[in-house]
Amino acid sequence: MLSIKNLHASIGDKEILKGINLEVKAGEIHAIMGPNGAGKSTLASIIAGNENYEVTEGEISLEGEDLAELAPEERAHKGVFLSFQYPVEIPGVSVTNFMRTAINETRKANGQDEMPANEMLKLIREKSELLEIDRKFLSRSLNEGFSGGEKKRNEIFQMAMLEPKIAILDETDSGLDIDALRIVANGVNKLKSDKNAIVVITHYQRLLDYIVPDFVHVLYNGKIVKSGGKELAHELEEKGYDWIKQEQEA
Ligand code: ADP
Ligand code: MG
Ligand code: MG
Repeated sequence: MLSIKNLHASIGDKEILKGINLEVKAGEIHAIMGPNGAGKSTLASIIAGNENYEVTEGEISLEGEDLAELAPEERAHKGVFLSFQYPVEIPGVSVTNFMRTAINETRKANGQDEMPANEMLKLIREKSELLEIDRKFLSRSLNEGFSGGEKKRNEIFQMAMLEPKIAILDETDSGLDIDALRIVANGVNKLKSDKNAIVVITHYQRLLDYIVPDFVHVLYNGKIVKSGGKELAHELEEKGYDWIKQEQEA
């Protein structure tokens, strides 16, 4: 599904990613953990095509197709989803209407016709029921006055509707209360299938009490320095990140 080989990336003259290798197959959930400043959010942004970073070496491909030359929207249309893709507040545009437009844009980019209105309604109903999102929420203005939990709900709803091949959820370190964690975890667990893959980026182990990853990777100083199963997350919870630092600096 997603293949990253020897990825190096910089911003200005500062190298942030220093040779990342990661293979994510369909049906898998990967967690990327690591201390603050390790490069987790940078990695997510680069996969999604953020042009503020310069990829100096290596490659990223989706189902064998090199993503290097593709703009962020093109990557999105091919099935790359990054949380917080649409953080803007759009007064007067509801959660549902925004989603309608996004879906039809994706279809257009892939040479399909607009989704018929009744099919769209059915999809919205299905996905909102699956995620226990109520109608009132769907008619609210996008992101306007959304709480942390509501932003998460919207994000997971977008993921459910767009059915990405690879979803990258960057649970940026602080500020996620237990409700928001549950919304994310519940969404991920319900949307997981053998046709998609999910990468959850998290500083804390607690999210992984609700989402059980198949693989856990530790990113430190721009490199994946350790990979393992879900037990690695527990080990990190117990021991913190200092032992990783000590190992790396020894
Ligand atoms: P994490 O998500 O693991 O906390 P980040 O990817 O946000 O780490 O940051 C990795 C490193 O890259 C940090 O040292 C950060 O200061 C630096 N960095 C990230 N984005 C930028 C940027 N736009 N400009 C300058 N430095 C950046
Ligand atoms: Mg950070
Ligand atoms: Mg981050």
